[in-house]
Formats: sequence, structure tokens, C-alpha cells
Amino acid sequence: MITPILRRQLLRSARQTRCFSSAPIAAAQEIKRLGVIGAGQMGLGIALVAAQKVGVPVTLVDTNQASINKGLKFADKLLAKDVSKERITQEQSDKIRSLLAPTTSMDSLADVDFVIEAVPEIPSLKFSIFESLAQICPPHAILATNTSSISITRIAATTTKDPTDTSTSSRVISTHFMNPVPIQKGVEIITGLQTSQETVDTAIAFCKAMGKIPSQSADSPGFLANRILMPYINEAIICLETGVGSRDDIDAIMKNGTNVPMGPLQLADFIGIDTCLAIMKVLYEETGDSKYRPSVLLRKMVDAGWLGKKSGKGFYDY
Ligand code: NAD
Repeated sequence: MITPILRRQLLRSARQTRCFSSAPIAAAQEIKRLGVIGAGQMGLGIALVAAQKVGVPVTLVDTNQASINKGLKFADKLLAKDVSKERITQEQSDKIRSLLAPTTSMDSLADVDFVIEAVPEIPSLKFSIFESLAQICPPHAILATNTSSISITRIAATTTKDPTDTSTSSRVISTHFMNPVPIQKGVEIITGLQTSQETVDTAIAFCKAMGKIPSQSADSPGFLANRILMPYINEAIICLETGVGSRDDIDAIMKNGTNVPMGPLQLADFIGIDTCLAIMKVLYEETGDSKYRPSVLLRKMVDAGWLGKKSGKGFYDY
């Protein structure tokens, strides 16, 4: 059953959506169950915020049981903090936690109305997951990706063998949440050539119900956020490797000079050095423009397994 809170939020969001796009608004679909694939930093955050703000049950799939355990431990920590700061009661915390249904089986996504994929930024991995989702999920389900840079049109194309049949590809979209999901309000909505207006309306309504503020971007490498952010981070790494400045000076001048909470090298650690490299590779390979060449040091960091905060070592030690 759709919860009264979600119904109210969906109706309000559908009205607010009129400010977002001049296109006519189709009725947004009801989301009774959400699926999230990948219990890493993004997937866990998306699942938790959906359970907390929308009150929707979430099937959380990760092929790695250790990732699930780590993710749920982190969710417990965040909920305990909310209870201790009296933002929610213990009863509400227990309810939110009970909405998260972890599993290692993709087949558990057979009853979801909306699924958000948040596995690592590896094109072949995302393509094979969407090929499977087309078979597993119900024929009305919205299939969303949290990709940072990969073409939505290409991801959507993997859901069908007949490009003229858009019954599944029209339900593919990107809801690109920002990190950390419980804190950052922004979300990028990116449509592929095949995406239907109903899919856009439902995705926007759901993101708004999660308390997010959507921006729309064309299906272009890196979209808006990473087209702007990643060359900035990559340039900071080039400054470090060519000796223009030390790690601390690079981060200090950008932090203290542009009023951001952290400098570009620390931010790279928080995003994940592997994710940064994957996005730079997509920008470079898809545009063929040398200005997007990933820095040599960025590649070496990934070779060394220094992936940032999640691996305990990056530009900083954790
Ligand atoms: P992560 O490495 O923290 O988590 C990825 C999770 O996916 C892991 O738990 C892994 O076990 C799981 N996984 C791997 N293969 C799987 C499979 N076949 N089926 C199910 N689960 C699988 O990565 P992340 O930082 O959460 O990034 C996920 C996605 O979100 C990427 O596309 C990334 O580009 C995007 N993104 C990341 C950020 C960021 O700041 N990290 C921000 C916005 C978007």
C-alpha cells in the first residue's frame, strides 16, 4: 500500500514539478516498493533516505555480504545519531530500519516499482545489470541508475534486443544522487533518448518525496555535476604530481578561498579515487578531448589500491 505520507508528497511533488519543466505532467506512478542495487556509500544512503523520508520498503541487493553488513552497520550508526540528537524517536528509528530488506539475490527485485542501481562505475557491469533488470522487474517498474558519467541512452539500449520496442527502455532514467546522500539536497535527472515523460515525472516526484532538489541535465559525458567537478579534482591532482603545491596547500587554498567544506584532494578521497578515475576515463574517451586526460597520479593511486576513505588510504590516511 502507498503510505499517506508518500501519497501527499507525490501529489505535492507532481504540482511542484510544473516549475521544473514546461512539458505536460503525466500522473506519477505510485511507488510501493523500492529496489536499490549496491549497498556501498551511495546505495546505502539512497535506501536509508527513501525509508526515512518516504516510508517505503526497500529491497537492498548487494552481491557481497560483507558490503551489506558494513552498510547496515553504517545505517544503524546514522539512525542512532538521529535518535541521540532527538531528530527522530527510537520507535521511528526501528521502523525505518525494518523497512530495509537486504539480500544478495537480484531475483528479489521481482516486486519493485522503482529500482535504483548504484554499483561501481564500470560500464560493462551496469550494462549487464540493466539487461537482467529488464527480465526480473515488473513491466511497469522504473529502472534508474546512479551513474556518474555513463550514457543513459546506452544503458537503456541494453534492456532490449529490438531497438524499435521501447516498452522497457522508455522506463530507464538516471537519478544521480550526490554524496553523502543523507546530507546533499541535489540530484541530477538525466534522460536517455528513449526515456518517457511518465518516467521523468515519476522519478522527479520520488526524488522530491526523498527531500531532494532535482536539476535536469542532457545525456552528455559526465552530465553537469561531474563535467564541472571532475576536471577540477583532476587538475588538483596534476598540481600535486607536478609539484605546483603540496597536498595541504592545494586543499587549504580551495577550502579557504572558495568557501567549500573540503579541498579537492580530500573530496576525491570521499568520492573514491577509483570512481574519480572511472569518471575521468568516460569524459576522456567519450569526448576525445585531451583536456579530460586522467592524471598519471590518479591512475597510480588506483593501481596501488589507495581508493580514499573507503579503503583507509588515499591522499589522506583514515
Ligand atoms: P561503492 O564502491 O561504495 O559501492 C558499490 C557497491 O556495489 C559495493 O557494495 C559492491 O559490493 C556492490 N556491487 C558490486 N557489484 C555488484 C553487483 N553485480 N550487484 C550488486 N552489487 C554489486 O561505490 P559508490 O561510491 O557507492 O558508487 C556507486 C555508483 O554511484 C557509481 O556509479 C558511482 O559513480 C556513483 N556515484 C558515486 C558518488 C560518490 O561520491 N562516491 C556520487 C554520485 C554517484
